[in-house]
Amino acid sequence: MAVDPRCDLCGEGRPIYHRSYSGEWLCARCFKRSVVDRIRRTISRYNLLEYDDRILVAISGGKDSLSLLKILERIERDFPHSELYAVMIDEGIGGYRAECMAIAESFCSALGVPFTSLSFRDLFGFTLSEVVESGIPEDLGLTPCTICGIFRRKALSIAARRLGATVIATAHTLDDVVQTYLLNLLKGEGNIRPVGLRRENGHAIPRVAPLRLTPQREIALYAYLENIPFQTTTCPYTHTSMRDRVRSFMAWYAANKPEALFSFLKNFERLLERVDQRAEDRCEVCGEPSSRRICRACEVEMLIRDRLRR
Ligand code: SF4
Ligand code: ZN
Ligand code: ZN
Repeated sequence: MAVDPRCDLCGEGRPIYHRSYSGEWLCARCFKRSVVDRIRRTISRYNLLEYDDRILVAISGGKDSLSLLKILERIERDFPHSELYAVMIDEGIGGYRAECMAIAESFCSALGVPFTSLSFRDLFGFTLSEVVESGIPEDLGLTPCTICGIFRRKALSIAARRLGATVIATAHTLDDVVQTYLLNLLKGEGNIRPVGLRRENGHAIPRVAPLRLTPQREIALYAYLENIPFQTTTCPYTHTSMRDRVRSFMAWYAANKPEALFSFLKNFERLLERVDQRAEDRCEVCGEPSSRRICRACEVEMLIRDRLRR
């Protein structure tokens, strides 16, 4: 007679997830608890947050960032001097942002976390769709996602300063962090910096990634089990990004070697520690840290403004 399988942690619940890199079978309750516990441990292991931080959580309306917000809201209840703010950046992508905005707004209101949105249009005077339709990305040899990323980063810094935030929390999962390192290597980036670790640089507001040790698929399952709402529309530019291709390769690789992403992160960051990180100066235009006289965001912004004026 077949033995009735039980959860490896509590010994009672019916397993719904096999954590292939540890060999554990987990029930839904233990799985969710293990995800939150790991994020708590990640925060403490890397000293990502202080007890009295004003934390800006960058949300996209997708499952990763809403899960991060929910988990941080739970963790920060133990730190009454900390504050949480959710910020969404509206890039102005026709037919895409409206749904995520509505989802995020009602999710934040249910959690009791203040929600703010800022748009590329208000901050920079153009939308991402206008820039893409003008053909500027192709002329500059950049993908829409690269332009989007440059301005989203800048917009989040502006939002953080306006809110008086002391730290920006992003929903980069283990997969995202490894993808970012691989993309940096493929681009031949000479000064690769650790992703999502609290490394303050001059006047920059530090960025942290509390999900950096949590695989993407576990966040997806957590979101599903917690009934976190999903957006149904996909950004029309996703397929143009290099990240999308690296993501597909990594998903295939990790399916065959489940521990590969953890090993890569550990070994790569060990190497980064041995490399002397060049101190970054500040951009002469916006004051954000940059190894160039004028940062990439300001340079691209000037080029776009110039082109759109013609
Ligand atoms: Fe921006 Fe690319 Fe993400 Fe679309 S897929 S929101 S263009 S980074
Ligand atoms: Zn269990
Ligand atoms: Zn700048």
